[in-house]
Amino acid sequence: MTTRQDCLALDAQDPLAPLREQFELPDGVTYLDGNSLGVLPRTAAARVADVVTREWGQDLIRSWNTAGWIDMPQRIGNKIARLIGAGENEVVVADSTSVNLFKVLTAALNLQRTDAPQRKVIVSERHNFPTDLYIAESLARERGLVLRLVEPDEIPAHLDDDLAVLMLTHVNYRTGRMHDMPALTRQAQEAGALVIWDLAHSAGAVPVDLNAAGADFAVGCGYKYLNGGPGAPAFAWAHRSHTEVMDAEQLWQPLSGWLGHAAPFEFTPDYRPAAGVNRFICGTPPVISMAALECGVDTMLAAQPLGGMTALRRKSIALTDTFIALVEQRCAGHGLTLQTPRDASIRGSQVSFAREEGGYAIMQALIARGVIGDFRAPDILRFGFTPLYVRFIDVWNSVEHLAQVLDGGEWREARFNQRAAVT
Ligand SMILES: *Cc1c(COP(=O)(O)O)cnc(C)c1O
Repeated sequence: MTTRQDCLALDAQDPLAPLREQFELPDGVTYLDGNSLGVLPRTAAARVADVVTREWGQDLIRSWNTAGWIDMPQRIGNKIARLIGAGENEVVVADSTSVNLFKVLTAALNLQRTDAPQRKVIVSERHNFPTDLYIAESLARERGLVLRLVEPDEIPAHLDDDLAVLMLTHVNYRTGRMHDMPALTRQAQEAGALVIWDLAHSAGAVPVDLNAAGADFAVGCGYKYLNGGPGAPAFAWAHRSHTEVMDAEQLWQPLSGWLGHAAPFEFTPDYRPAAGVNRFICGTPPVISMAALECGVDTMLAAQPLGGMTALRRKSIALTDTFIALVEQRCAGHGLTLQTPRDASIRGSQVSFAREEGGYAIMQALIARGVIGDFRAPDILRFGFTPLYVRFIDVWNSVEHLAQVLDGGEWREARFNQRAAVT
């Protein structure tokens, strides 16, 4: 049985412990929601202030050139690339995850219509994050395609001659279950399909190697494990075989805005897509948000001399293993059912428990005690473990609070049972 002393000892031996110094963590808070909104990097406030007061305030429009504003989508994209097994100039930062998914899914469907017009099915996971499903549903409706939603174990059975695109989120937002990216990519491509991965809960959370897996497209989120701040811009990746070999007609994405043009400042009336992944850019980059995101991505890159994603993954597994074991010891008999795989090799960096009754209120009671996770309807208590800043003592303390909330029935209080707009 893990003790409080064990947790303190694990922290004392943790080679990644110094990385926590990069963040502004409020006193009295145990933050287990970095999978939903990452913590503020220490550098971000000063960096954003400098962008506002000096780059914008003093240098004004000259900053597009002098401060490198115009290159931010590529510069930050190249930093993210190092976290997801992508190459130089293969990732751009732009728009939101939803919008990027629309772009890459349309591009993939366009490729398939050219090559294989008979393929009419998009397969995804029934419990994929809703925005992904809504975007796919809308595209399927527009193009007379079928969106087929299946359980994770059923996916291989649906990789057949009808399949146009397999569109999956690598780590599921509810359960934290992680798909086998290389295997599913290979199987889907052998069936003649293209594969899109949403890395919203993977980038900065688990090792990802898009090029080794040979995936076709990927998108991901800036404000979760990348610590980019609320509503941070997202990213998009496309395999080089699509962006280099295919001509503009074939790799066509519909949000053909001017900054995805080959020469935006020639102001020609006709659209000519930029080279490579740059054609996935649409409009002007949100510079202030991009500056904050870059600070967040830099906190991830700071882990590279300490072992990078491999070391972060080792710690993430140790944190989630410890949390699962402690909850099952300390909170037994309280109706919590583990939703996250026990097998760490298919687990992301979060742990979820379902409870038939009171899940929302239990999370509110925890938050009132300074332990911040979140609730996902209808019944999931979700705890994210960001190895950059979560300590083993945080795991211990959060389970202590959870046990107290459950033992004392504190969550039944009326104040914990009023739903806010964001859960
Ligand atoms: C968080 C998340 C998103 C967020 O999309 P936005 O466009 O930023 O709102 C999309 N997909 C998945 C799988 C997510 O986890």
